[in-house]
Amino acid sequence: MSDFDVDFFVIGAGSGGVRSARIAAGYGARVMIAEEFRIGGTCVIRGCVPKKLYVYASRFVDEFADAAGFGWTISQPPQFDWRRLVESKEKEITWLSGLYRKGLDGAKVEIVESRALVEGPNEVRIVNDGRLVRAKYILVATGGEPTKLPNAPGIEHTITSNEIFDLPELPKRLFILGGGYIGLEFASVFARLGSEVTVAMRADNILRGFDEDVRVGLRDALAHAGVKFHFSAVPALYEKAPEGLRITLTDSSHILADQALVATGRRPHTSGLGLEKAGVELRENGAVKVDALSRTSAPSVFAVGDVTDMDNLTPVAIREGHTLADRLFGGKDISCDHENIPTAVFTTPELGVVGLTEQAARERFDIVDIYRASFRPMRATLSGREEKVLMKIIVDGKTDKVLGIHIMGHEAGEMIQLIGIAMKMGVTKADLDATMAVHPTASEELVTMRTRTARHER
Ligand code: NDP
Repeated sequence: MSDFDVDFFVIGAGSGGVRSARIAAGYGARVMIAEEFRIGGTCVIRGCVPKKLYVYASRFVDEFADAAGFGWTISQPPQFDWRRLVESKEKEITWLSGLYRKGLDGAKVEIVESRALVEGPNEVRIVNDGRLVRAKYILVATGGEPTKLPNAPGIEHTITSNEIFDLPELPKRLFILGGGYIGLEFASVFARLGSEVTVAMRADNILRGFDEDVRVGLRDALAHAGVKFHFSAVPALYEKAPEGLRITLTDSSHILADQALVATGRRPHTSGLGLEKAGVELRENGAVKVDALSRTSAPSVFAVGDVTDMDNLTPVAIREGHTLADRLFGGKDISCDHENIPTAVFTTPELGVVGLTEQAARERFDIVDIYRASFRPMRATLSGREEKVLMKIIVDGKTDKVLGIHIMGHEAGEMIQLIGIAMKMGVTKADLDATMAVHPTASEELVTMRTRTARHER
């Protein structure tokens, strides 16, 4: 008889936890998974999935506008119904959450709909019924939650990305604090849906850490779409006024809004989880410290996904969770590779990036070659719309190896997924040049950029 009730206790049924639980159970492990909110986690319930649905909704505006140039007459002005979008989104995520549940049931994972707390290196307490479960291994996959920084007076009048999807009505005026992924994706969505959007941030430009060219390109494109920016300024005060929420910025300007979204990052969800009882060390911001194999400082406790605050992306959590289950229960000696992770920002235009920025490459390599193209895509010709595609390839001038690719434009996320494969295989500029183009496409530019734009030598 085993000393344990289960082999694997997973806390958190989000992307990483669900995948790990299913794979472990597939190897015959006895698995229990606890979730205090809804199965699916941030990505499915109030992150990537509903966000992308809203992005699609917002882009119809461009389609309607473009149609005339292609010969269409839209006889009545299109109407948008926010409530219908919210309801349709709710149906879709409920269906997806059900699918996750089915997957767990099918794999014979026991689902516990309750908060679960760590009581020791091998013990988890189910809060709802007080049960103490003895587990051989514990996986912390509790994700993260939005942080409201900085804490200006009146911050209680603001919302986070948790609430924005289900607002009772489309805000006429939306204020956003934060120029990162979340702030910009919502700025882009709501500006297209018809809100007046103002974005403030402490930095002098959006998307810290991204390549300068795409930062500038996206800033200009969003401004062109009607987003108003306040750089180097953050709210000093939020106050309710008869005409709406009045926000005073540190640059002394005032903004009136119907909703204020704070998108200043997310923090790992570890508070009150009892991890100290198992001897699990945390970083200063509450993230679980892990090594490359998702091991914490407690030998029986592991952590994957946003709770480790490394690469806070769904596919990373899934891969880490899968790899861990393969190691613990499948006898596979593998680890999760975090090099060259492709990523997208689902603004309009979209960003797709993989590898190093020009700045990072120039710090690390002696000779860095830059290939850069900026052009008007064919789809914007007849419509007459101002739209630019930007593509940038960063190459090690000594070895010809591609170090980074940065794309701004329609479906950049789709493009970068495929480029990610080439990057994983160590693509060189010569490989790109030797690839036949698909014509006419926007992505053909990636294999037809012959002329170097710049060479930087250290
Ligand atoms: P980000 O880290 O992307 O952006 C945070 C923003 O808040 C930045 O503008 C940052 O400024 C600002 N900020 C941080 N701290 C403060 C502070 N104390 N005072 C004022 N401003 C502050 O976080 P998000 O919330 O946008 O997104 C969280 C994470 O979720 C992302 O990093 C990403 O990993 C993930 N995500 C991924 C998506 C995708 O893949 N498409 C979509 C959405 C989220 P500064 O630049 O100066 O640091």
